[in-house]
Formats: sequence, structure tokens, C-alpha cells
Amino acid sequence: MHDKTRTALVTGGSRGIGKAIVERLLDDGLQVVACGRSAKPEDFAASAHWVEADVSKPADANRLTRIASKMFGSIDVLVNNAGVQVERTVTESTDDDWDLVVGVNCRGVFNLCRAVLPAMEKNSGVIINIGSISGVVADPGMALYNASKAFVHGLTRSIAVDHGPAVRCNAIQPGWIMTAMADDAFAVANSPQAAKQDAIARHPAGRFGQPQDIAKTVSWLISDDAAFVTGQCFTVDGGMTAASPLQPGLF
Ligand code: NDP
Repeated sequence: MHDKTRTALVTGGSRGIGKAIVERLLDDGLQVVACGRSAKPEDFAASAHWVEADVSKPADANRLTRIASKMFGSIDVLVNNAGVQVERTVTESTDDDWDLVVGVNCRGVFNLCRAVLPAMEKNSGVIINIGSISGVVADPGMALYNASKAFVHGLTRSIAVDHGPAVRCNAIQPGWIMTAMADDAFAVANSPQAAKQDAIARHPAGRFGQPQDIAKTVSWLISDDAAFVTGQCFTVDGGMTAASPLQPGLF
């Protein structure tokens, strides 16, 4: 059981994985402040707090941190979950694509970490960054997204090294988790249905992930059971990337 007085800041808490993380941390007894670019969603948990903020803007990141600290005194847990995806190769990508993907996925994570770290170093704290298996193996046609997630994994290690022992910092590398973002990724396949069937067949776990699978990993990583765990990137993908790329039928 987690300490009831801890406060968590979760970015991108309006839907998908972020929403599941908000709900899990509330269940764990934390006070939760979450953000997104839009107004508070109608189905947002009544006991959590919502701040409209765009993580890619340093001023918004600082304002969000100030609001959460003022409300609860300290931020003990930061979950950098907000992310965007653009399905394009390098030659297809525009300057706007760069600004969006790098702005949210890289700059956004940096902005929030920089905003919370000074106080966390004094009071101790835990940071979880949501990376992706796409930052380890390249999904076709997702150049900026893949590269942005590799940045998240690298920044995670640097924060653990530079700001320990007061701060523990780890990343989670989800595989296919059924959210709006996953639907968008399958939508660009020649046959989304065939692509989904092929993807499921590659999961030793026999299914796609659910947002709660990632929320449970966050819950463990912020707990005292993970007190000796820092600077690591954890793949949570139902075993998909554990398989050799060789075609099983030929061996
Ligand atoms: P969704 O698109 O369903 O949700 C993304 C969330 O991020 C929304 O709440 C969105 O709210 C918020 N967001 C986006 N941009 C910003 C911004 N600039 N400032 C604040 N909030 C923002 O995505 P998922 O739940 O699927 O993904 C969550 C994280 O998990 C992402 O980092 C993603 O890259 C990662 N991931 C997801 C995988 C999957 O299969 N689903 C696989 C691997 C990694 P709003 O638009 O209102 O701002």
C-alpha cells in the first residue's frame, strides 16, 4: 500500500493509458493532478484534479508544477505520459510534424522533469517516463515518433544518474496498448484487420495490452518494492519483441 499523502502529477490524463494511470494511482491512495491540452473530460475521476496545460510549452509545464505544488505541498511522483504520434517517414515529415512530435514527446518530458527536479531533489521523488518499444525497434513509417521515444529512454537514464539517490527515474516501453493512438497506427496499414491479426499472433501473451497493464507497472515502479530500481527501461509488450525476427514456420 502506498503512502496516502503522496502527490502524483500525470501528463496526458484525459484518455487511454494516462486515464488508467490516474485511476490506478487514486486507487493506490495518492492525490492526483493531471493535465491535457483540452478542457477537463466529462468522465475524468471526480477525486483527481485537472489542469489545462500543453506540456510542450515550458511556461505551461512550470504553471502546472506550481499549481500542483501549491495544492499539495510537494510533487512526489511525476508520470510523463502525454505523447503524440505522426505516421510518416523522414522524407514525408514536415517542419510542423517535427515541432509537434519533438515538442510534445521530447521537449514535454524535458520541461516537466526540469520543473519538478529541484524540489524532488530536496524531498525525494520518483519519475516515470512513458517511452515505447518504438524507441528500441523501428515501426515502419513512424520516423519522428520512433526517434522521440529513443530520446525519452536516454533522458530517463541521465536523470537517474544525475539526480539519484534522491530521485529514482525509470521508463516504461509499452507495446501495442489498445487506445486511440494504437487505432491510428493500425489505420495506416494496407489492411488494418489483417495487420491486427498478424500482430496478435506475434504476442506470446496471446492478446494486445490494455491501458491498465501499463498503469499496474507504474504502480509497482513508484512503490517501495521498486526502491532499488532506477535508470531502467521496462518493456511491457506481451512478449512481442522477445521473439526472433526469423519466421517460425521455416525452422
Ligand atoms: P492517446 O492519444 O490515447 O492519449 C494521449 C494523451 O496525451 C491524451 O490525454 C492527450 O490529451 C495528451 N496530450 C497530447 N499532447 C499533449 C500536450 N502537448 N500536452 C498535454 N497533454 C497532451 O495515447 P495513449 O494513451 O495510447 O499513449 C499514452 C503514452 O503511451 C504516449 O506517450 C504514447 O506515445 C505511449 N505509447 C502508447 C502505445 C500504445 O500502443 N497506445 C505504445 C507505446 C507507447 P489532449 O489531446 O487532450 O491534449
